[in-house]
Amino acid sequence: MKSTASPTVTVCANDNQSERSMGRTTKRPADGSTRPAEPRQVGAGELAERVGRWLEVERFADYCPNGLQVEGARPIRRLVSGVTASLALIDAAAEAGADALLVHHGWFWKGEDACLVGLRGERVRRLMASGMSLFAYHLPLDAHPELGNNARLGRVLGLAVAGTGGERDLVWHARLDRPTAAAALGRRIARRLGRRPLAVGALDRPIERVAWCTGAAQDYLEDAIALGADAFISGEISERTTHVAREAGVVYFAAGHHATERYGVQALGEAIAGACGIEHRYIDVPNPV
Ligand SMILES: [Zn+2]
Repeated sequence: MKSTASPTVTVCANDNQSERSMGRTTKRPADGSTRPAEPRQVGAGELAERVGRWLEVERFADYCPNGLQVEGARPIRRLVSGVTASLALIDAAAEAGADALLVHHGWFWKGEDACLVGLRGERVRRLMASGMSLFAYHLPLDAHPELGNNARLGRVLGLAVAGTGGERDLVWHARLDRPTAAAALGRRIARRLGRRPLAVGALDRPIERVAWCTGAAQDYLEDAIALGADAFISGEISERTTHVAREAGVVYFAAGHHATERYGVQALGEAIAGACGIEHRYIDVPNPV
C-alpha cells in the first residue's frame, strides 16, 4: 500500500513566465505601443505539448492515445470540453462554434477495430467536417493531483484527501469527521452529484474512512479495502461487486461513470483557457450510467 500526502501542484508549475503569453499571435509593435488585444489563439500542436507536460502523459501506459487525437483545420480560440467524444457532443461543440473539443473519453481504444467505419466513421466524418481538433486525456486526467477526476470528485464531495494508493495510485481516500451512516453518505453523494448512487454491501456499518476512484473502477474495491476503507465510491458496478462488498463488510456506492467524471475535464479546460487566454465552455451530454 502506498500512501502519500495530498500533493499540491500548480498547473503552470513546470512553465515559466512565458506561459502568460502562450498563444499570442501578435507581437508588440516595434515602437513599443500597445494595441487592443486581439482574440488569443493557440495552435493544436502547441496546446498538446503544453498539456502533455502538465499531465505528464509520458508516464502513463494507457488504453488510448493521450493528447491531440485529431488535428483540426484552424488555430484554437474557443474550446469546448465534455466527458465523451460522442456524436452528440461533437454536434453540440460544433454548434457552439468550437475550434477544439477536449474530452476524457476519446477515440482509438486498444483492442478496438482500427477501421473508421459505421458509427466510428460517422463520428470522424462529423468532427472533420466541423474542422475541430480533438484532444483526449484518459488516465493522466484521472490521476492528476490538482486537475484530475479523483482530485475534483473529492473536492465536489467535500472529502479531505488523506492519501492515495492501490493500482497506479488511483484509489484516493479520506477520513470523515465522524462515523457516518451509509444512508447519510449516500444522500451527500446524491446532493453533490445530482444523481442518486446505488449502494450495496454492509449498509448498516458506520463509515469513517472513504475511498474513491472515478469511472469504471469497481474492481479497485479490493484495493480500497486493503487501504482500510469502510466505503468505496466509483462510477459503475458489476454483479460481482455486490458480493465482494458484502463479504468484506464494506459499502460500495455506484455513483455513475459519467457523473463522477465530469469534473476533471472542466478543470483542465479552465486551466487551458486561463493559460492561453482562449474561451472555454463545458457541455454536458447527460448519461445515466
Ligand atoms: Zn471513464
